[in-house]
Amino acid sequence: MKGLGIRGWGLAAAFAALPLVATLAQTPGSGRVRLQPDWTALEPEMMEQFQAVLRFDTRNPPGNEHIVAEYLKGVFDKAGIPAQIFALDAKRSNVVARLKGNGKKKPLLILGHSDVVTVDEAKWKFPPFSATRDGGWVYARGTVDDKDNLTGGLMTMLLLKRFKVPLDRDVIFLSEAGEEGSSNFGMQFMVSQHYPEIESEYCLAEGGGAIRIGGVAKYTTVETLEKIPRGIELVAHGISGHGSIPLKSNAIVHLAGAVAKVGEWRPEIRFNETTGSYFRGLAQIMRDFTGGKYDLAKQEFSDYMTNFPTNDLASNAQFYLGEIDYAQGNYKVAIVSYTKVIAQYPRSFKVAASQLKKAQAEIKLGNKQAGIRDLHEVVRKYPGSDEARQAQARLRELGVSATTR
Ligand SMILES: [Zn+2]
Repeated sequence: MKGLGIRGWGLAAAFAALPLVATLAQTPGSGRVRLQPDWTALEPEMMEQFQAVLRFDTRNPPGNEHIVAEYLKGVFDKAGIPAQIFALDAKRSNVVARLKGNGKKKPLLILGHSDVVTVDEAKWKFPPFSATRDGGWVYARGTVDDKDNLTGGLMTMLLLKRFKVPLDRDVIFLSEAGEEGSSNFGMQFMVSQHYPEIESEYCLAEGGGAIRIGGVAKYTTVETLEKIPRGIELVAHGISGHGSIPLKSNAIVHLAGAVAKVGEWRPEIRFNETTGSYFRGLAQIMRDFTGGKYDLAKQEFSDYMTNFPTNDLASNAQFYLGEIDYAQGNYKVAIVSYTKVIAQYPRSFKVAASQLKKAQAEIKLGNKQAGIRDLHEVVRKYPGSDEARQAQARLRELGVSATTR
């Protein structure tokens, strides 16, 4: 399991990452002919491989990734792709397969992990290692983490070989064991004992992704780092005693206090290169807005809404779309945006502000009663907030008591 970001390249995205110039269907273009495989015809084979890999019970612990490793080795052998098994523990094996390029560039590594997290079978509609297809879904542990990537990598290798795609770099495939908390059998072992086998310039794995809308690539996310766990040992001292006379000086009381403090701890926010770039991009949009470049800002906020409709900041983008219309005097349209924030993102940090601005827009439109109603709502629903204070002040200006209703 990886941390943040869009998880899983999925089959299609894994293929899209490679310039597959292959066979069959020909796309029209000016001069340059680009050949594509017949993806529809390949679908049954992809699904078959996906289900085959999903049906191996590799929950970790204990892992038993060797059953996937042996299966993959067999598939590569049959396809004539050189593949090798590497294992620190015979039951926790990794597979490396390699397609040779002309050596002009350094290799590309495509990897997926073959273990999955454990399952509570009672909570599953279908057995978690059945890969049952039902209503357009495939039910199995590992469908989105990470046997989708594993199968995507496998199919990429098979098709590159089958269509004799000329490669200007080696393409290396790695089926990695123990990713879910026991990487000493997988990645750590490969890096420390067999690094030349997987040494590459780039790696495609879970954690980043490519988003296409209507067949057009909109953006690609790149993961540069993951959170790293840090174990802390808390030692408490105190006087022991009999349970009938509980002591406040007991070690467990001190320990509980310490654990509570850890829970309260809010680490300082620091930006690294990746998060810094992300927020600088967002800040540019805000500058366009505050600088009065409304059309540009509107486009950017709309793009944000299209690309990240469920992101925590989507409600913020929706709110600022309202703000642009408000600033331009399009109060009716602004109200639509504020209402969307309230209805679609009820837990958003922008809900109170949206209700407040909706009230102000209503008043601008001459709908004084509707505005007053909204102001009362803000006072009632968000007591103690800045928005409630502003709503109260506005109600006073309007000569309405904020407390009676
Ligand atoms: Zn994972």
